[in-house]
Amino acid sequence: MYDPNNIFAKIIRKEIPSQLIYEDDYLLAFHDMHPVAPVHVLVIPKGPYKDYSNFVTTASSEMQSHFFKQVNVIARDLCDANFRLCTNNGPMSGQTIFHFHMHIIGGKQLGGL
Ligand code: AMP
Repeated sequence: MYDPNNIFAKIIRKEIPSQLIYEDDYLLAFHDMHPVAPVHVLVIPKGPYKDYSNFVTTASSEMQSHFFKQVNVIARDLCDANFRLCTNNGPMSGQTIFHFHMHIIGGKQLGGL
């Protein structure tokens, strides 16, 4: 069940602020408030998708295609060819906000997972 009052849904509706770096009809990207690296950006689709599995099974092909291509554009803009993409799927993975989001992490030499 998707909770429309989660923090990222509120950011999409501009009910709470974010450090926005990119927005279009499908998604927005903003800085993570607790960065783990010099670049730590979150990309979220504009739609009620609670996690990655829900996104890839219910979002339109147009939405999915645009989302993943734009993640790459933003990552390359910020980090050139060196970045980590990460998404947590479900509480046991460490997901804390149940609106699908992709972490883009980079800007330094990253350690192992
Ligand atoms: P996850 O643990 O994968 O669900 O990631 C949630 C991420 O959202 C964490 O890295 C948090 O630091 C980040 N976060 C939580 N609230 C905000 C917010 N209001 N603005 C920006 N980042 C946030």
